[in-house]
Amino acid sequence: MAGLVAAARARELGAAPVVFEKGNRAGGSMLLSSGVIWRHRSLDDFRAECPDGDPALQARLVEELDDALDWLEQLGIEPVRRETGNLLTVGRRYDTGALTEVLVRAAGDVRLREPFHEAEVLATGGFGVRLARERGLLLRAAPWSEGDGLAHGSGRGAAQTAGMGEFYGRALPGPVGEGEYVRASQLYARHALVLDDDGRDLGEAAWHESDIVQRFPGGRAWYVLDGRALRQPVRERTVADLVDAARAVGGEVRPAEQLPFQLPASEKLVEPPFVAVRVYAGVTHTIGGLRVDDRARVLDGEGTPVPDLHAAGADAGGIFTGGYGSGLASALVYGRVAAETALR
Ligand SMILES: Cc1cc2nc3c(=O)[nH]c(=O)nc-3n(C[C@H](O)[C@H](O)[C@H](O)COP(=O)(O)OP(=O)(O)OC[C@H]3O[C@@H](n4cnc5c(N)ncnc54)[C@H](O)[C@@H]3O)c2cc1C
Repeated sequence: MAGLVAAARARELGAAPVVFEKGNRAGGSMLLSSGVIWRHRSLDDFRAECPDGDPALQARLVEELDDALDWLEQLGIEPVRRETGNLLTVGRRYDTGALTEVLVRAAGDVRLREPFHEAEVLATGGFGVRLARERGLLLRAAPWSEGDGLAHGSGRGAAQTAGMGEFYGRALPGPVGEGEYVRASQLYARHALVLDDDGRDLGEAAWHESDIVQRFPGGRAWYVLDGRALRQPVRERTVADLVDAARAVGGEVRPAEQLPFQLPASEKLVEPPFVAVRVYAGVTHTIGGLRVDDRARVLDGEGTPVPDLHAAGADAGGIFTGGYGSGLASALVYGRVAAETALR
């Protein structure tokens, strides 16, 4: 997304940018996403949620997101909803197919199946594919984000941020096709007893659940539910619907009594039936990346800008470190900023 946004903004400012796209389609992970572009309600909330991120980067995201969303509408895309459905966040939801179409049109020259060689704005979506492969985790993202932007920036002397091992994680019931990434995600850890393969309690999940997924030993765990938990709402569905979605893609769902260990006593397991769902950590995108400033300039280890090099989206680290935020918001805000800085 960030590359398309940067090109659209650059074109608006009178430049003739080219977007080099390694994949066979435009839109990257954005096209596969739920399309909710959001921010925390205030900078203080953002700081509390992502305490190890760079405050200057976070501030600019909070300050500029609403204007950036209005800019999207000027390009010709209406949101499908003007709220996120989550009281902790503010934002809008888009149809990602329509959003991709509008951005490609605004970007102008988008060349598919052409990896970049030189770039003014790095926007390759981080290195989630490589991280998933190296750690033996599932991928829940477009298949092209191998870390080419990171490698290019590092080769030019860029520094890397903290949190290079962190990722935005979602629990999946097993390997699923990209059309199932949203529907099959098991997003109810807060209602479940989360256990490792020896029956040890992995603790409570934060509201976004990306934290607990990163704590799955060996990338896998069990979500154990009782009858009350199955009735809980999750967005427009219930936990029981999500368990059905796991079954539908061949996931392992069994009576919890059949687990190969003794269930620990828990206030989460009161009302039968008790159901266990096997879940695996899916990597959506990396959180660490190239060090940038709040003008999207790539920085070296001394904090000096690397000449003519900018980064946006998941290639830029240091925004969500230690927590979770909207990768689409970062791609949108910093894609625009990168184009503006590059042209200046
Ligand atoms: C299932 C799912 C649901 C999600 N839901 C949400 C949500 O609701 N809200 C939210 O904020 N975020 C969500 N996300 C995350 C969001 O999609 C990403 O944070 C966002 O797309 C990151 O933007 P980006 O520009 O960095 O990467 P991308 O959008 O992935 O774009 C990177 C592009 O770079 C291309 N590329 C890679 N290497 C090269 C190369 N060498 N040369 C040229 N091109 C290259 C890729 O093919 C890709 O097209 C979701 C993601 C998924 C997968």
